Amino acid sequence: MHSLHSRLFYDNKDPLIVSLLDSLSEALEQKKTLNLYRKRCLVSSPQGVEVIVNGQSVLSFCSNDYLGLANHPDVVSALQEGAGMYGVGSGASHLITGHSSAHHELEDALAKWTGRERALLFSSGYMANIGVISALCQRNHTVLQDRLNHASLLDGARLAGARLQRYAHNDSAALERRLVKCQGSALVVSDGVFSMDGDVAPLPRLVSLAKAHDAVLMIDDAHGFGVLGQQGRGVVDPFELGQDDVPILVGTLGKSFGTFGAFVAGSETVIETLIQQARSYIYTTAMPPAVAYATLTSLELLKNDDWRRDHLQMLIAHFRQRATEAKLPLSNSQTAMQPLIVGDSERAIALSEALLKQGVLVSAIRPPTVPKGTARLRVTLCATHTKAHVDRLLDLLVELW
Ligand code: PMP
Repeated sequence: MHSLHSRLFYDNKDPLIVSLLDSLSEALEQKKTLNLYRKRCLVSSPQGVEVIVNGQSVLSFCSNDYLGLANHPDVVSALQEGAGMYGVGSGASHLITGHSSAHHELEDALAKWTGRERALLFSSGYMANIGVISALCQRNHTVLQDRLNHASLLDGARLAGARLQRYAHNDSAALERRLVKCQGSALVVSDGVFSMDGDVAPLPRLVSLAKAHDAVLMIDDAHGFGVLGQQGRGVVDPFELGQDDVPILVGTLGKSFGTFGAFVAGSETVIETLIQQARSYIYTTAMPPAVAYATLTSLELLKNDDWRRDHLQMLIAHFRQRATEAKLPLSNSQTAMQPLIVGDSERAIALSEALLKQGVLVSAIRPPTVPKGTARLRVTLCATHTKAHVDRLLDLLVELW
């Protein structure tokens, strides 16, 4: 049975189109057979640890809203106030008339907070990563990336047409071997906190290797900002790594900040180059100014509310202690992401569904998002969870595992 849309194509009788559509349906069926078919759930409440999903009230361990700012009353009123001042849409790209004083003020505040000369807003982390790598690298450049880097970083290198080489996860000796062999300029790229594993990149080692081999280091700290470091300054903070050490630092605003968008922090030259050359910056509508305005409020909360980070750290320690006692397959993560490796996709889905039946939402993450044979339940802890929430999850995990 074909949809109206595909019937229209079939009526064309173009053999190429017919076979393309046939192959799409086959591929979808195959995904179902392999338990790799993805479905969206329908959320009808604000983000938080208790959400309404598909009409059911559940306790969620799936959000990147690590500090609980996505529905914070001050951030919500700042968004409303911002909409009153600027309206809803930005109306144009940053280089036409979309760059408002709210965007500008947020860029200045982010530059100051990260200790960089400048910061530049992008409409999403995905766009920031593809924009930076494709603006800075060309075919004759080598991009060395950790094997478990986020998809947007890998796609950026592919878009640039650069030589993309992936080194073994967090293996600085493997990176060094590649740097030694590398001819010409190289960009070394790593997640700060790995999005599917929660472990942290060996930052000081990456910095010294990049410096020794005249390579440029880019760190995407989407999951470290807000959670790690003094005032939530992320993975670079404990090592006091400045702009000379990590010349390109990416952060997203849709996670700990609780809003939307992303930023790149770096030198005047890097930022001006991005403004001139990053196609995902130039050829797209600027994020709504009210979102930038609301993010100014969430930046203040993120910097000043140390208790959110402290509470989160307490929950992480508690989760790990109880999971260790129960012999659950914990990963090497000290951050908010606490994946439990299941291995088989079917079993990961079965566990996730069994938890949902008990009113607890934990996503099953499967290939190709993670390597084959490493399907997992990705538990994400937030500062708005209580110890009792974590205990409820653990009681169920112990019973179902
Ligand atoms: N980088 C990393 C490490 C991420 O985990 C994500 C989001 N999952 C992104 C970039 C993309 O950010 P955004 O959702 O803002 O596009």
